[in-house]
Amino acid sequence: MDFPLRRDRLSARLPELGIDALLVTRLPNVRYLTGFTGSNGQVLATASERGTVFLTDGRYTEQSRREVPDMKRGTYLSEFPKAFAQACADAGVSRVGFESAGVTYRVYEQIKAAADGIELVPVGEEVERLRWAKDPEEIALIEQAQSITDQAFERILAKLVEGVTENEVALDLELTMRQAGAERLAFDSIVAFGENAAEPHHHPTERALRGGDVVKLDFGALAGGYHSDMTRTIAFGEPPAELREIHDLVARSQQAGVDAVRAGVLGEEADRASREVIEEAGYGERFGHSLGHGVGLEIHEGPTLRRSSEDELPVGAVVTVEPGVYVPGLGGVRIEDMVEVTEDGCRVIGTSTRELVVV
Ligand code: ZN
Ligand code: ZN
Repeated sequence: MDFPLRRDRLSARLPELGIDALLVTRLPNVRYLTGFTGSNGQVLATASERGTVFLTDGRYTEQSRREVPDMKRGTYLSEFPKAFAQACADAGVSRVGFESAGVTYRVYEQIKAAADGIELVPVGEEVERLRWAKDPEEIALIEQAQSITDQAFERILAKLVEGVTENEVALDLELTMRQAGAERLAFDSIVAFGENAAEPHHHPTERALRGGDVVKLDFGALAGGYHSDMTRTIAFGEPPAELREIHDLVARSQQAGVDAVRAGVLGEEADRASREVIEEAGYGERFGHSLGHGVGLEIHEGPTLRRSSEDELPVGAVVTVEPGVYVPGLGGVRIEDMVEVTEDGCRVIGTSTRELVVV
């Protein structure tokens, strides 16, 4: 990963933001800029990449030497505000941005008190925006995470037997993904049988599998810090006729969404293309969430595919396309894939079938 290039891009943005430096505290952003994987680290980015400094506490002196060899580093004992003030003084900066989504009010008060004479300016999602378009190394890690997810899907089909519970299936998914090389789960797996599939974000329970249930699985793995995210809805025995029709509808809606994704398209346009198919079939009210989201160092990141999202998709963005229809009392269907945005379309990442699997 070309960390100096990423820091250069951020440094180049600072004059446009009217600040001398930006304090980066959100950990996925720190990792993106430096490669640091520990639980406490900050970057003070200045207008020249060479003035940029990485800060962490004494627990991570060795780890940061290894992971962040190409940057000026500072280590503090326990007091970040003092270290921040010192770094600002060393860099000779006075108007300093901070990530408004990454600093608590308490920390804000502390750094304000410590950094006397420094003007603090709240800044939006600057590093997040740089993260939208992935480089080839990032795409490779997302593909690796998805390959683990695909393997787990194939193996879980054999585990779906009468009486198995949602909790058992969730545990099996986790075990299979860890055995296949996942660092950990990308997020808590959603496993929903029958009527539970009507909840978009159902948490697994002791509900046992019965003939005629749909089985909705939303899960993913973490590889090299990068996430995967996939949903499949399958049937255990022949499902109710309406759910088979809904599966067909959601599959068409998802395809329409995938077909709409290409560089330059707005998030709302992709959402519209997919949502229209469901609305025309009379199920518009039953599709109560957004179409998709970016995936990378975080499971949910930009760009966002939803109503009134003006996020413009760049080449290299990885986004999910995940329409769903949920009918209380009956069940629900969601189909989700990650796609890589290209100049003239997109490429689906992953190999699991999108046809209705009946086991
Ligand atoms: Zn998902
Ligand atoms: Zn998702």
